[in-house]
Amino acid sequence: GTAAPSDLEIAQRATMRPIEEIAAAAGINAEALELYGRYKAKIDPARLAASKAGGVSRAPGKVVLVSAMSPTPAGEGKSTTTVGLADSLARAGHRVMIALREPSLGPILGMKGGATGGGYSQVLPMDEINLHFTGDFHAVTSANNALMALVDNHIYQGNELNIDPRRMTFKRVLDMNDRSLREVVIGLGGPTQGTPRQDGFDITVASEIMAVFCLATDLADLRERLGRITFGYTYDRQPVTVAQLGVQGALTMLLRDALKPNLVQTIAGTPALVHGGPFANIAHGCNSLIATQTARSLADIVVTEAGFGADLGAEKYMDIKSRVADVAPSAVVVVATIRALKMHGGVPKDQLREPNVDALAAGVVNLQRHVRNVEKFGITPVVAINRFATDTREELDWLLEWCAAAGVQAAVADVWGRGGGGDGGDELAAKVAAAVDAPHTFRHLYPLEMSVEDKIRTIVQEIYGADGVDFSVPALKRLAEIEKNGWSGFPVCMAKTQYSFTDDASRLGAPKGFTVHVRDLIPKTGAGFIVALTGAVMTMPGLPRVPAAMRMDVDAAGNPVGLF
Ligand code: ADP
Repeated sequence: GTAAPSDLEIAQRATMRPIEEIAAAAGINAEALELYGRYKAKIDPARLAASKAGGVSRAPGKVVLVSAMSPTPAGEGKSTTTVGLADSLARAGHRVMIALREPSLGPILGMKGGATGGGYSQVLPMDEINLHFTGDFHAVTSANNALMALVDNHIYQGNELNIDPRRMTFKRVLDMNDRSLREVVIGLGGPTQGTPRQDGFDITVASEIMAVFCLATDLADLRERLGRITFGYTYDRQPVTVAQLGVQGALTMLLRDALKPNLVQTIAGTPALVHGGPFANIAHGCNSLIATQTARSLADIVVTEAGFGADLGAEKYMDIKSRVADVAPSAVVVVATIRALKMHGGVPKDQLREPNVDALAAGVVNLQRHVRNVEKFGITPVVAINRFATDTREELDWLLEWCAAAGVQAAVADVWGRGGGGDGGDELAAKVAAAVDAPHTFRHLYPLEMSVEDKIRTIVQEIYGADGVDFSVPALKRLAEIEKNGWSGFPVCMAKTQYSFTDDASRLGAPKGFTVHVRDLIPKTGAGFIVALTGAVMTMPGLPRVPAAMRMDVDAAGNPVGLF
């Protein structure tokens, strides 16, 4: 037969409905809708009347959080499952809305794969969402770089705040994978060109402004959080904040329009809010809180996703995002694939397509630890087995039987191949709907009163399965500084590889008897968390030897070609 159509080809063949129709069906009043072309719109939460439809307040919708086992480098299909599950829930008659992150442009031009789902479970228009969309990342980039221009100008104009140019913790950003900009020197060329200092660029999704944007409850809270950002230290080692510089108002103004969530639709016509996109390592890795809350005001069930595996994304959703507002999930979906389980069972990457039940049985410990972790938050997990064409019936049955024996709800989902709008996700949707209604008592993993050191120890022991944690000398110094500056009450945002429970990407399965090494801690006082760096964490990725950009083009009519 002919090759399967690409994600882009499937998306281009799909028929979209005008976004006004999607909005009307979702209960969004026309006054709250700001059109960006025919198929994209921003929603102004301040003008939204839906939460009091007919004058009657309705209870906020329940949240289904989609997470995953430790993935292979190709990704196990969280976004695909998020979209397909929502379509299947809609098909079963539920009032559903999706809340997803916006893709970052850098990785799109680098590695194959976007963030809009795949196969017949995608959000549309996928090309526009993956490219410039409604300009939100531009706004975040501008706000970030405006701050740095204002800081360097402050130093140049006499440095009243006594900022030490050698102790700057904030960098300029760009939404591009550009390794040449990781380390730069600015201000060269003589006295009128500024004060020379060592600087560098991060990718936009690693900016604290992006994290702040995604945790803000409204415009006023955004302004407060921007003001609390620490961008560096003085010569006498006191933290310096944006509020001291007095520019939180200007930064808020630059972000004002971007802060409104973006409405789009899935191939099956389910409404989706795609908004914000912080990194899942140096930040918390989920869409904006405003999008989640807006979706909850409109739908009974909101399906959302947290980046990386459940040890990272789900833990941060529970312990960071769910403390800013009560958005705790009613159910957590753990996406698993036969290929990832075989990889955790020791099969090399180039042999994952071959049937191997023994390897599956050896690798299932990884899934097991993720599932037990979700239970520690008081939530019942549902395993979604994301079906690939190469999976055999024997392998799928083995995994279903394992789940049944372990007392874990599970369903095979073929939302990539058949679409949630088809029958690919019916069984998963039924199990998730039942889990949402089942009684549960959510709890955070640790109390905020715990010391930062103990918070980290709790996460690595309870979630990763480590014996303990070991702090480098600089990290110990930083702990003391955090205490001194009164930042101990923040939750912790772990920056760790997503491929392993340990801080070493090559240790697969469910390792025991290991220690996690924290090499540094970065206080993000605007976002309101302390980042704990383990292993090598990249805040400005590079491009691969053959970037995906090499395959990209536009046809004679201007349509994109080769975008996944
Ligand atoms: P994640 O959100 O976990 O990173 P995605 O949903 O973005 O994963 O999927 C990663 C890639 O894998 C996408 O290109 C998608 O089309 C593809 N993919 C996902 N599920 C399947 C499947 N069941 N069969 C084949 N390809 C899939």
